[in-house]
Amino acid sequence: MERVLTGIPASPGIVVGRVHLLHWEVPDVTHRIIADEEIPEELERYRAAVAKAKTRLESVRARAEKHAGPEEAAIFEVQLHMLDDGDINTRVEAYIHQNIGAEKAFDVVMLDWRQHFARSASPMMRERVGDLTDLHIRVLSILLGLGDHDPVDLTAGANAILVTHDLTPSLTVQIDRESIAGIATDSGTRTSHVAILARSLGIPAVVGLRDATSRLRGDEVLVLDGSSGMLIVNPSDAEIATFRRRALMEAQDEAELQKLAGVEAVTTDGVHIVVRANVDLPDEAEAAARSGAEGVGLMRTEFLVLGRAAMPDEEEQYDEYVKVLKPFDGHPVVIRTFDIGGDKLPVGGFPHEANPFLGWRAIRMCLDEADMFKVQLRALLRAAVHGDVRILLPLVVTLDEVRQTRQLLRECMQELEARGVTFKRDVPLGVMIETPAAAVAVDSFLEEAEFFSIGTNDLVQYTLAVDRGNANLASRYTPLHPAVLRLIQRTAEVSQAHGLEVCVCGEMASEPLMAFALMGLGIRQLSVNPRSVPFVKRIIRGVSASFAREAAEAAVNSRTANEARGELEFRLKAAFGNVAFIRDGGL
Ligand code: PEP
Ligand code: MG
Repeated sequence: MERVLTGIPASPGIVVGRVHLLHWEVPDVTHRIIADEEIPEELERYRAAVAKAKTRLESVRARAEKHAGPEEAAIFEVQLHMLDDGDINTRVEAYIHQNIGAEKAFDVVMLDWRQHFARSASPMMRERVGDLTDLHIRVLSILLGLGDHDPVDLTAGANAILVTHDLTPSLTVQIDRESIAGIATDSGTRTSHVAILARSLGIPAVVGLRDATSRLRGDEVLVLDGSSGMLIVNPSDAEIATFRRRALMEAQDEAELQKLAGVEAVTTDGVHIVVRANVDLPDEAEAAARSGAEGVGLMRTEFLVLGRAAMPDEEEQYDEYVKVLKPFDGHPVVIRTFDIGGDKLPVGGFPHEANPFLGWRAIRMCLDEADMFKVQLRALLRAAVHGDVRILLPLVVTLDEVRQTRQLLRECMQELEARGVTFKRDVPLGVMIETPAAAVAVDSFLEEAEFFSIGTNDLVQYTLAVDRGNANLASRYTPLHPAVLRLIQRTAEVSQAHGLEVCVCGEMASEPLMAFALMGLGIRQLSVNPRSVPFVKRIIRGVSASFAREAAEAAVNSRTANEARGELEFRLKAAFGNVAFIRDGGL
């Protein structure tokens, strides 16, 4: 077996641990015809499997409640109720009475249920498809004797490296930082949801390994290097020592960089670049503020929904938004409305769309589900009393979407007024520029948008027609493609000409080399993952804005992303002597 597996670096840090292999996929089932006299025994076997699944779910629920909270654990309540469903059990037992083995009987009924739910007109029903899939896997695994499946039985300090095909919400809410030292997945890329989450949780991760789950047997010792995207299987003592040294150096480097946390991000010719942080989980806000960020440039509120059985209500959302505002006393906090769908959170996403990234996602879904959207808007208007909240709309392609949101905001204000609740009226409303349509026609939003934020993660995928979550396309996902750079430049120019603030909040901003390019394209605000704040500040403080402009101009006029990278790299080398520290996360 190959000893080195290479994937995509997703969350930095080097750890040594033992593989905990998790096959969370519906197992293959063969058709088995049973004799009449076997029927009672088969029924018994099915009922015992359901009972066992319930016991397991109870313990999973208790564990999720401890690690993630009661709302997140509710997803397992839903699954427990489903297992009690008379219709599922009656139909499975009817098949067994027709001489079909229990596994196949259950498999057929669950496939049918999943299809039925997936086609439902009701979003609430479609949201439950993920739960049905979880049950499908769990009960079949028990019937087939495939053993324990959840990451729940890891004890604190187990130092496990979770290796799995993909992280589903129900797996994610069980992740216990005390027992899981690293995450490795077959699927995903640097900008997919699992990578973003791992960075938020501060767990080193490598994604896009393609077939790690079939190459590893489980229980091997692994070195996982989340900074380079490498896994070393059963490393020698000397290799472990080398990686430990490297981990130590990374830690020292970061400690050194932390000194930059408090300094201003000003270029050598005096241009101030605002560096804000991306916050995914409200609990991250304190650490993000300590990283030296001047506010939050993007809070991804969909993470509040992670693994949940129901949407959080107004009160709960209000509390979470206020929690993020507190550590940023007075600084802007840009809160993006729910971006559910695409590869984000199947709880509200709709996995059975043929093209989820071109589907019912983000602002499209929110406008169609106006009651749900208004709960969020009211919570935001109320939270805005406690700080400088700005509301940001994801995946906008047309001015109509902004107008409709403004109408809903007006209704929300009337409702809050009628309730006698305190709220803020003039909360700035911004538009994400993350589709080519929005970038090309950026001027069409000027009438309604008060600021822009460029979401390069999506802008790159839609411009280059490269799925951001497809590991097979990772090398084709090139943010430095001249087409992308020109769209960013255009957005910066139009914003500047009309005095509107524009920020880049996609992962590109967190990569020092690309942050350099963005400054040169005229961007004066970057929102980055909190760990990258000092890295980006170091670049800003080491170059002049005019030097960055010249480099960006050369990059924009390049014919390929590679040429553009070359233009940027050689100039940075000239400025810094070496580029060893310009960590490239693989974008
Ligand atoms: C983006 O698309 O760049 C972005 C910031 O949003 P997300 O990654 O959440 O889609
Ligand atoms: Mg996006």
